[in-house]
Amino acid sequence: MKLAQRCIACDGAHLSYSPAILTPFIASRIFHWRPVRVTADWGLRDIENGMAYSICNSAMCDDCGMLFLDMRFDDEEMAALYRDYRSEAYTASRESFEPGYATRNALLLDGAGYIALVEAFLRPHLPRKPRVLDWGGDTGVNTPFRSTAARHDVYDISNRPLVAGAHAVSLETAKAAPYDLIVYSNVLEHVSYPREALREIAGAMRPQTLLYVEVPHEAVVREFHDKRRRLEQKRHWHEHINFFSSDALDALFRNAGLLVIERKSKIITAGGKESCVFFIALKLNL
Ligand SMILES: [Zn+2]
Repeated sequence: MKLAQRCIACDGAHLSYSPAILTPFIASRIFHWRPVRVTADWGLRDIENGMAYSICNSAMCDDCGMLFLDMRFDDEEMAALYRDYRSEAYTASRESFEPGYATRNALLLDGAGYIALVEAFLRPHLPRKPRVLDWGGDTGVNTPFRSTAARHDVYDISNRPLVAGAHAVSLETAKAAPYDLIVYSNVLEHVSYPREALREIAGAMRPQTLLYVEVPHEAVVREFHDKRRRLEQKRHWHEHINFFSSDALDALFRNAGLLVIERKSKIITAGGKESCVFFIALKLNL
């Protein structure tokens, strides 16, 4: 794990920090750190009694308004965090930290009800039967056009069984095969190095390929326009380690050589609750 020294979106060097905590599930899964109560019988002279959680910093880019966890997990830590993601064992472990998770997860596994909205957003830019690659698409259950696509490929490190009609592909195939649509949905908020991740995907695109990126438009970003206040509101970090502002997204796409064709902030219902996400259609900036 490294601590970010520069903005993970625009690479700017002007960062502000505010103390925060890692949620116990994340701290336990990656580092085997658990919350602990410091009591008088510890006999510590200069330490106050009370609950101790895993400390970290919220970081804010003063240039683009990107809000993020200062800890950047490496590949091994990411693998520990996402091993058997949403499996029975994962769900049971998370339920023990976060009562109610299992119920929410069951709703998410049902497939997002908003896929029709995504398809309506993308359809004007695509052929009738697109060849689709879902990059980081888990089981492929939420891939747009999955019932009508000429080809439905999924590239994902989780290697979970795919829905009917979907084919698992290697990174080499993902980079070499021609696709009309590459889907990168609800992944970017989880990755340590979003600039590098987007550059890799851009490298797999052809001039006609449409890239669909979907990321949460987090409430704290929507509600607090003042960067200082936004930073101070963010007191805990879970699996979303990147909170994107519009300016941060612009910087990321520019850096990856991508051109925004259309972007919308939409209210959707997933996992039984309403949230707000960015729908973004992109092409290579040639
Ligand atoms: Zn920035």
